[in-house]
Amino acid sequence: MEFQEKIKSLIQQMTLVEKASLCSGQDFWHLKGIERLGIPSIMVTDGPHGLRKQAGSADHVGLNESVPATCFSTASALAATWNRDLVYQVGQALGEECRQEKVGVILGPGANIKRSPLCGRNFEYFSEDPYLTGEIAKSHINGVQSQGIGTSLKHYAVNNQEYRRMTIDAVVDERALREIYLPGYEIAVKGAQPWTVMCAYNKINGVYACENGYLMTGILKDEWKHEGLVVTDWGAMNERVAALKAGTELEMPGTKNGNDAKIVAAVEAGQLDEAVLDRAVERILTLIFKADATLSQDFVCDMEAHHALARRVAAEGAVLLKNDDDILPLQKMVRFALIGRFAKVPRYQGAGSSLMNPTRLDNLHDELRALLGADSLPYAPGYTEKGDQADEALIQEALAVAETAEVVIICVGLTDLYETEGVDRTHMKLPPGHDALIRRIAAAHAKVVVVLSNGSPVEMPWAQDVPCILEGYLGGQAGAGGIADILFGAVNPSGKLAETFPLKLEDTPTYRYFPGGPATVEYRESLYVGYRYYDTVGQPVLFPFGHGLSYTRFAYHDLVLSQPQGANDAALTVTFKVKNIGKMAGKEVVQLYVRDVASTAFRPAKELKAFAKVDLQPGEEAGVTFDLDRRAFAHYDPQIKDWRVEAGAFEILVGASSQDIRLKATVEVASLHPTVPVIDRTEPAVYHDLPKGAAVSQKDFEALLGRFVPPNQETRKGQYTFNTPIGDMHESFIGRQFAGMMKKQMDKMLAGKEDTPMALLITTMAREMPLRSMLMGNTPFTREMLDALLLMMNGRFFKGLFALMRAVLSRQN
Ligand code: BGC
Repeated sequence: MEFQEKIKSLIQQMTLVEKASLCSGQDFWHLKGIERLGIPSIMVTDGPHGLRKQAGSADHVGLNESVPATCFSTASALAATWNRDLVYQVGQALGEECRQEKVGVILGPGANIKRSPLCGRNFEYFSEDPYLTGEIAKSHINGVQSQGIGTSLKHYAVNNQEYRRMTIDAVVDERALREIYLPGYEIAVKGAQPWTVMCAYNKINGVYACENGYLMTGILKDEWKHEGLVVTDWGAMNERVAALKAGTELEMPGTKNGNDAKIVAAVEAGQLDEAVLDRAVERILTLIFKADATLSQDFVCDMEAHHALARRVAAEGAVLLKNDDDILPLQKMVRFALIGRFAKVPRYQGAGSSLMNPTRLDNLHDELRALLGADSLPYAPGYTEKGDQADEALIQEALAVAETAEVVIICVGLTDLYETEGVDRTHMKLPPGHDALIRRIAAAHAKVVVVLSNGSPVEMPWAQDVPCILEGYLGGQAGAGGIADILFGAVNPSGKLAETFPLKLEDTPTYRYFPGGPATVEYRESLYVGYRYYDTVGQPVLFPFGHGLSYTRFAYHDLVLSQPQGANDAALTVTFKVKNIGKMAGKEVVQLYVRDVASTAFRPAKELKAFAKVDLQPGEEAGVTFDLDRRAFAHYDPQIKDWRVEAGAFEILVGASSQDIRLKATVEVASLHPTVPVIDRTEPAVYHDLPKGAAVSQKDFEALLGRFVPPNQETRKGQYTFNTPIGDMHESFIGRQFAGMMKKQMDKMLAGKEDTPMALLITTMAREMPLRSMLMGNTPFTREMLDALLLMMNGRFFKGLFALMRAVLSRQN
């Protein structure tokens, strides 16, 4: 109470200019303070899987060094643990490192859904399933915030690709929005109250996220009761006043773009109610003082303990995909060969704004040497650094090293160039040099263990030819230690896939519709994302959602459904037993899916509604109880703008993966929404009976949307705006000069870094970023200058030239 009163009194003492000033950052990583009022400036920084605190030059693409911090597994692997407690501990450790480094908010976690395996940033996201996404995000946030440090749940919302991420318009129907793309955020907001939510760069149904009042205020603040603030992604601000009205409080990074002055002018002109500004300032001050209360006390972390935690997490996030003849775990006496450059130079995190500087870095070669007490190991690199083609000499060397081994461990995966923020993949294949190595070794050896390092699914054309596959994901700085623990049985694998591994890219539901562009991306597959698609249409996959093997076995039995007691919101209580029937202690991820047997609305074949991780000694049995509330049975009805449960039969499916259902029962649900009459709403037939390939016509998609799809064209000369990507302005001479200038500047910045993910990211960014991005950071431009340039680019040369001269002069004055 006292806290809120202090804030209210501060707001009363502030001038209009001071209030507006707080709505944007001071620089790249700091919020502004106001000295005369004793308001401190706090620091925020990336995230999500480790602290990226830049002590020197700042950037949002991972270009400049950051202080050493613990690099944990990236989000794909965290989700694959399905372990809420463990993810909470990671959050706690991240929070502690923030305290030590005096950082008030760590930017993350990301809760975007993996709509396609190609999104370049999938390694930073949790899952294709919204429930799992939300549960893991909630644990991560609660862990960080238990330390009095804030988080930034990002990138809200429908930011499911990197291609043209700053301008693309995601066209998505209301059910997909509510049932797939938002619930992850909803669960995290309701269950963890992240201090900040970061709005995405893109548009959602025609409106930039920062200005999307429906998402920022209607849903986030009013429906979900978010108490924190909304901060823009770095450079995601479009029109400042509109964004403030829509509920976006804070613009980052700090700029000299005149937006603070625009807020002042809008209030003075009566176009913006000062009360809106006051509410924004209240949220900003709340954040600042909460963080400051923590940061005013010194703190020292136990970095050794964090490294040990990173190792445990890496082992638990690794997924044993295949283990024919129980070749794993290996005995210490086994004669093995270690093949693949990744064994010495690990791939352990992705590129872009999350790229951080680890305190140390384990590699599998050294870890195995230490584990086995061996001076040297039979090792060969097998492929070149780039791995872009088969290297015959290296393959021959690898074959020779492998010749006398009983078991061959091959470390392969995606190289840095394949997975970076800002750039989507165009295929799902491994580097050709890696595929070739596996094929050749597998042709010569029966006992091959493939260890993968990658942040998102890959095609495995050789999967039938090798007995063992261990998906190590991007395991952070201690990833190699975690893999060593699994290979030799110090840890029993218990990770399960948080995403489907399709057989090939052409099998994915978004194959036709991803990434769209140049102006829009149509989400024609609607709800059919990930296993919701594969299981509904019967599309075979390589490894299904929820799959993961253990060195022990589990039996499921005694499924009982009962109506809940008491007046809570639960609709059904499900209990069953799970028993470890093998010889080794192990953890099982038990999963509960719900299937609507007959529905007037289209529904996927099954949907994950509950899960738990159960730790069992050999022979031990445990009871599991899940309380399902009405949302577990509901679909979103756009007509009543609410969740609806239709009366009828629902199947409760309990299993070890989405395709390994062990227990099944049917429950008759009485409609839990009796007060609302059922409206006869027709959804296009194609969605009730989706064909393989998910081909949906424009007409059907429009019927689902309830409106026409917007045109999907590149902007032509004469219509260029502030939001036109610089690379698209090629019909204009000045536009071409501008793009050329940008490129030169980028090339200079990237000298010596050619052929790196950084170069790929920055050159793509320069091409795709809208003209308005020129106003970001320490810009030499003003909005007036860009308006003048736009006139010139649109063919009104002289008018633009005069305007430009005026703008330059007024800047100098
Ligand atoms: C990314 C965010 C990141 C921010 C700051 C942006 O480009 O999309 O995830 O937090 O930069 O580095």
